[in-house]
Amino acid sequence: MAEDDVYQRLFQAYAAFKVDMTRETMMEVLRLQFTPEEAELAVKVGFRPKRLNAIARKTGADRGALQRMLTTMGRKGTMYATPGAQDPEYKLMGLGGPGLIETGGWRQTRFAHSVPLMKALCRWQIDLAQNWFPSLGIPVSRVWTTPAALPADARPEENLAQIMKKAGSWGVSTCSCRLPHRVSDPGHSCTQDLETCLFMGEMARWGAENGMCRLITYEEALEVVRRSNASGLVHTHDPSEFLCNCCRDCCIFFVSLGLTGTLPLDPSEFVAAVDEDTCSACSDCTDRCPVNAISIDGAASIDAGKCLGCGVCYPNCPSGSIRLVRRAAAGEGAVATTRVM
Ligand code: SF4
Ligand code: SF4
Repeated sequence: MAEDDVYQRLFQAYAAFKVDMTRETMMEVLRLQFTPEEAELAVKVGFRPKRLNAIARKTGADRGALQRMLTTMGRKGTMYATPGAQDPEYKLMGLGGPGLIETGGWRQTRFAHSVPLMKALCRWQIDLAQNWFPSLGIPVSRVWTTPAALPADARPEENLAQIMKKAGSWGVSTCSCRLPHRVSDPGHSCTQDLETCLFMGEMARWGAENGMCRLITYEEALEVVRRSNASGLVHTHDPSEFLCNCCRDCCIFFVSLGLTGTLPLDPSEFVAAVDEDTCSACSDCTDRCPVNAISIDGAASIDAGKCLGCGVCYPNCPSGSIRLVRRAAAGEGAVATTRVM
């Protein structure tokens, strides 16, 4: 009972994220990601950064033992520590972006509990997609137009490649949605690449220090972006910190769309447009679009209200008939609420 109590208190620490409707599946993940001693420490460290001395004072624990436990938690992805620092600041990982939703799937195949963790994480992500996202009523992330498809008037802050370049460090890891799905249902999950989750800047250095990603060059990171777009993945989240490349089968956002009709993503500033004079109506773009925003009636036609501006339709068009244009110029205001499609 006392052991269960510490997990209840840890769950309460995450209550600010309004996750109560996923308590059962989240508790499974908490029990796998934290030993009872780690859960106790996690509650005491909390989400505000603290140095080792302050944590030692608060817990009354031996500094050496504390340091070892915090290091282990870092490797499991539950405790953040300033990378490369002699005297790092520690803080409990939040829920997502990044947080427990993702860190459990980032190369976390190194522990005895990895397989049960992947299965529990998959159940929790589906629960979040089905129950948590629709309850929020607001987008939790956004879509980025693939750099190759950006129009000439795109500003630097709209170009994920330029934002990534500023980060100075880059890493790549396994997709935190695809890996849990693949481990949970081998043989039935999607066939997309696993290593598509990009880390930038401090996140990349923290991830590499803790075995959650491997460092790569900027050019290699851009190649992951290009390949992801070519294989139909949608760039989401924050290219200054980490960039997800989402498939429609496993990605928590698109699972939400499939189960509830709600996509908790803001579209990019751009929208697809088709040159009807050159379009051969081959329907390649229709098959690739992740939200069925394209229909064919003599030529391809875009439903701008559905279009995410991702550019997944762009690279394969045999006649080069698709381009991305500024959403506002196309008469479509940026959509700022969770979209029900
Ligand atoms: S039409 Fe579909 S694939 Fe093309 S940019 Fe819009 S959402 Fe993406
Ligand atoms: S891929 Fe290009 S040519 Fe084929 S239907 Fe789409 S816009 Fe037309």
